Amino acid sequence: METYDALLASIAPTSGQSRTILDPATGTVVGEAPVHALEDLERAVAAAAAAQPEWAALGHDARSAALLRAADAVERSAEELARLLSREQGKPLNGPNARFEVGACAAWLRAAAGTPMEPETVVDDGETRAELHHRPIGVVGAIGPWNWPMMITIWQIAPALRMGNAVVVKPSEYTPLSVLALAKVLNEELPEGLLTVVSGGRDVGEALAGHPAIGKIMFTGSTATGKAIIRSSADTVKRLTLELGGNDAGIVLPDADPKAIAEGLFWGAFINTGQTCAALKRLYVHSDIYDAVCEELTAVAAAMPMGVGLDEANVLGPLQNRQQFDIVARLVDAARDAGAKILLGGNPDTDQPGYFYPATLVADIDNNNPLVAEEQFGPALPIIRYSTVDEAVTMANALDVGLGASVWSSDPAAARGVATRIQAGTVWINKHGAVDPRVPFGGAKQSGYGLEFGVEGLKALGVPQVING
Ligand code: NAD
Repeated sequence: METYDALLASIAPTSGQSRTILDPATGTVVGEAPVHALEDLERAVAAAAAAQPEWAALGHDARSAALLRAADAVERSAEELARLLSREQGKPLNGPNARFEVGACAAWLRAAAGTPMEPETVVDDGETRAELHHRPIGVVGAIGPWNWPMMITIWQIAPALRMGNAVVVKPSEYTPLSVLALAKVLNEELPEGLLTVVSGGRDVGEALAGHPAIGKIMFTGSTATGKAIIRSSADTVKRLTLELGGNDAGIVLPDADPKAIAEGLFWGAFINTGQTCAALKRLYVHSDIYDAVCEELTAVAAAMPMGVGLDEANVLGPLQNRQQFDIVARLVDAARDAGAKILLGGNPDTDQPGYFYPATLVADIDNNNPLVAEEQFGPALPIIRYSTVDEAVTMANALDVGLGASVWSSDPAAARGVATRIQAGTVWINKHGAVDPRVPFGGAKQSGYGLEFGVEGLKALGVPQVING
């Protein structure tokens, strides 16, 4: 018996195709997920289009009140949701993982409900009065990844609903149960048809991105899929918010205190066992403190327990799927073969069940090595030595992605000066990856376009309309 059994039963497939979802930590069965087809997508879009006008007519206050009730519903079911998420995605209950993710769902719903959204008077000079409003788009499609399946779904749907839209969600094939369960809980407080999850494959994603009745796609996933969505959406001139892949750089300035920053560096890189878009994936350290930073980071990383998510002791889990495990293993092996030094990890135990890859630190590595240049999206951090800040900034900016970045220093003013030279949507100082529902978040270069969170995030889910009289 599991606490989430009733919830899982309520989302079980009743007809059509289904797929067995296995726990990535143990290989045991979590449950059956429906495999929805294009007819299911058509039904969901029609129901959304029918429910949307009445929802839009409710106005901001009533919609915000419903989102607050939905946040309460998430909190009532928090432990069931966290345990199911832990089993399907693999992330531990503890640490900044499953319980944290469910908590963030409630927090982001409340933030979307509580952010003021008023028309702006752009000009009012006695002759012209021009106001900028944001009208509902209609039906929004939300397509998401498998790493933070619940939280990213909320990032997409909370502002969409707040702005008066209906939503059709297409979750990742790897983590459909988490998203179906979350939507089931949210729908306790939402009108019928307004929010539907279509748990299909890539064909359903493509059809959603090209559907004439969908006004906007909120997409979070890889850069390659983002480009495919741009193409699918071109004929219907859809609005798009694209949160795509990253390969975030961190620069440690020579005045940083290695001991003081080691834990922040660790979680910046290894949160969700490295399966995080805006995680630290390339660490540039000044040669004066290179050895000390490597030593302190190794001490922190070596002490972090990894294992099955439902075990309360663990804070790191498995990779979510075999494909991701193979990518990480290939890149670490290539780094070792090229002469880089493995300070920790790099030696997965392939006899045990589950896609566990140990926390891995790789030193004395060339900046052109694939472990540095490619998005490895797992628990391996290359640490690159530099001698001038100009050199570090050039290396940080050399890739065609730019989601996040960070600068680490005992002098925040000096760190800010370096931050302004980095090409990334967010540059954190003495932390990495700290997202906040009040603060806009989005990528530079091929990490995507459009902003999420805060008032900017709400505006992105509306159609701007000027009333000029
Ligand atoms: P993915 O691109 O493989 O899949 C994401 C979603 O797109 C899935 O639901 C998938 O079914 C769907 N999809 C696949 N092909 C499609 C198509 N042609 N048309 C429409 N939909 C299609 O990504 P993933 O492997 O699930 O997630 C990992 C990636 O996501 C990493 O690159 C990571 O950096 C990125 N990511 C970015 C952010 C961010 O905020 N920028 C957050 C999390 C993850």
